[in-house]
Order: sequence, then structure tokens, then C-alpha cells
Amino acid sequence: MEEIRMVDLKGQYLKIKNEIDKAVIDVIGSTAFINGPEVNGLQKDLEKYLDVKHVVPCANGTDALQVALMALDLQAGDEIITTNFTFIATVEVIALLGLKPVLVDVDPQTYNINPDEIEKVINKRTKAIIPVHLFGQCVDMDRIMSIANKHNLYVIEDTAQAIGADYIFDNGSKKKAGTIGHIGCTSFFPSKNLGCYGDGGAIFTNNDKLAERLRSIVNHGMKVRYYHDEIGVNSRLDSIQAAILKIKLKHLDEYNTARIKVADFYDAAFSKYSQLQTPKRFEKSSHTFHQYTLVTKGIDRVKLQTYLQEKKIPAMIYYPVPLHLQKAFEKFDDKNKSFPITEKLCETVISLPMHTELSNEQLSYITNNIINFLEK
Ligand SMILES: *Cc1c(COP(=O)(O)O)cnc(C)c1O
Repeated sequence: MEEIRMVDLKGQYLKIKNEIDKAVIDVIGSTAFINGPEVNGLQKDLEKYLDVKHVVPCANGTDALQVALMALDLQAGDEIITTNFTFIATVEVIALLGLKPVLVDVDPQTYNINPDEIEKVINKRTKAIIPVHLFGQCVDMDRIMSIANKHNLYVIEDTAQAIGADYIFDNGSKKKAGTIGHIGCTSFFPSKNLGCYGDGGAIFTNNDKLAERLRSIVNHGMKVRYYHDEIGVNSRLDSIQAAILKIKLKHLDEYNTARIKVADFYDAAFSKYSQLQTPKRFEKSSHTFHQYTLVTKGIDRVKLQTYLQEKKIPAMIYYPVPLHLQKAFEKFDDKNKSFPITEKLCETVISLPMHTELSNEQLSYITNNIINFLEK
């Protein structure tokens, strides 16, 4: 049996090697390294795939979030509501811009922001909500949009982990994750569901005015070369990454389906074990399983991890520390609040290998070993 990896980028690459190698060599030959035709091509392909009016490619997912906030004309001290259970980038950019992150606890089953908790922290200074579609599954966007409309707030979706997920509205219509709020942000970090071979990101919007602002901000605040209308940043997706992403985008649905198959295998194996809570499938979203994350119940997580290590089965803790308890967060009031669900999840979650190349042999090995541990 092949070595089990948390993520297998090599196996995935080998299946499309010829096409990728040619595309990369072609960009090098063209020397159009920045803003070459591949970047515009990817933009168009993504607009079509996501059914969104504007895609603005940028350098990474963190920049995508930062630029999105910069386009909203916010004032220092304005409050941005987001989840306590996410990767730091979401909160980092809020703080970096002099805005105030306001954290909210999550749902214990889906691990996503709990809309009931959002209204409790809204006040006059609140300007935006950043829902994060964590581990590949959408937040309840009907609820988020209705809260935002009621209080006149912007919604920036962090869809770094859920590209390609479908959200199903209460009225039955569907939209892709990241195209529902005012702005959507994603990351093409190599291990993401649509990953490039370096850093990359993109911003989505259906609003023409916002699109113009976003395009200007990622390019030093200029529309006409060397005429700068506002303070911007340098955040570009390079042509080599765009060429790779154009190829991989054609496989995204097939990649996400492969991930769902892995999750189905794990679910079936663990369903009768009360010591493991399998990830809930939220009825209003497809799940793209960026991660397959279990909650351990009444078993020692450290012992399980050590056991898995001995069996050469990688496993990771996403995320070990709630954001309000991070050292970097010391200066914000939220450090004194309690977030019982997030705190509990940080102590009990464990994520299993999840990627497009896992074989049934590997999956049986993983699940049989975990079951052996539970039945010991
Ligand atoms: C990966 C990730 C980001 C940041 O993306 P980078 O491309 O690594 O900057 C932001 N938010 C979430 C939820 C992520 O998982």
C-alpha cells in the first residue's frame, strides 16, 4: 500500500502532468509572467463556472479578504463580525486594517458560525459580517443575508475552503459559495480544493462598482497606469499559476466528488460508534469536504493521535486554539468572553486524511485501525 498522506498533491499532478507541463512551459516561453492572457482566461472561466459577474484574481486568499474590506470605505474601529472557529487569516486582515473583529460562537454539528449569535453582537459600529464556509460546507446564507439586510451590513464570504459548493436557498434556487454576499473571497493555496502550485487567490462580486474598486486596489489603486486614485496594494495572480488553475478548474467538480466519496466511506465506517461524531451534512449546502473533521467524545484525543501516528496514518487538529485565546488577539475585548462551542471543538476535533487520490485500500486501513482503537 502507498504511504498515506494528509493531502496528495503529487498523485493529483501526475494524472494531468502532460497538460500542466506544457502550459507552464508555454507561459515561460511567452515571458508574459504577470497579467498574461492566462490570467484573463482564468477570470472568464471562473466567472462562467461560478455564474458570477466579476472575478478579480489576486495573490492569495488573505489578500482577497483584505482587499474586499478595503473596498468598503470603512472607518478605524468599525466592527466586523466573524466566526471564532476559522483559520487566522479571516480575523488577521480585520485587525490589520484597524477595524475591530467581533467573534461569534459556532454550531456544534456543522462547525459554522451560529446565526443566532450574530444578532446579539450587532451595534451601531457593526459594518460587515464575514461568514466562513468552513471545511467545505456553506453557512446558512438565507439567515446571514436576512440579518445583513435588516441591519444594513455588508457580507463578505470567506470561501477559501468551499470553492464549488452549491448553496440551496429556502426557495429552492441554487448559487455557488462565494457569490451570495456582496463579495466572495477564495484561496488557491496548493492544498485547497482548487489549488495552484504556489500562492493564489480571487475575489468575486456581482456589483459593478465594487468590482471596479477591487480591480483598482489590487493594482496599486490605479485604473490608468501611473495615475493612482487611492492607496492600494500589489496583489496579482501570476500567469503560471493562472495557467495551472485553468486546467485544474476543469477537474474541480470531479475532485469535489472524489472527496465526497472519501467522506461517505468514513461516515459509513464510523456511524455506529458513539465515540466519534461524523460531520453533519447541512441540508442547504453541498459539502466539498476540504476537511473531514470528527468530534471525539469520551475518548482521549492525544492517545488516538499517537496511535494513528504509530500506524502511519496522518491526522491533524484544525484548529487547536480558539481565536480569542490566541496571543495575537490579546488586545481585543473578546479575550475575556467565553465561546463554549468553539472551545470544546478545539479540544475534541480531529481531521483525517482527505484528498482526491485516496484508494479504498488506504481508506479501509485507516477506518479499520480507528475502529480497532475504539474497540480496544
Ligand atoms: C486558506 C484560508 C485563507 C487564506 O488563504 P491564503 O491563500 O493561504 O492566504 C483564508 N481563510 C480560510 C478559511 C482559509 O482556509
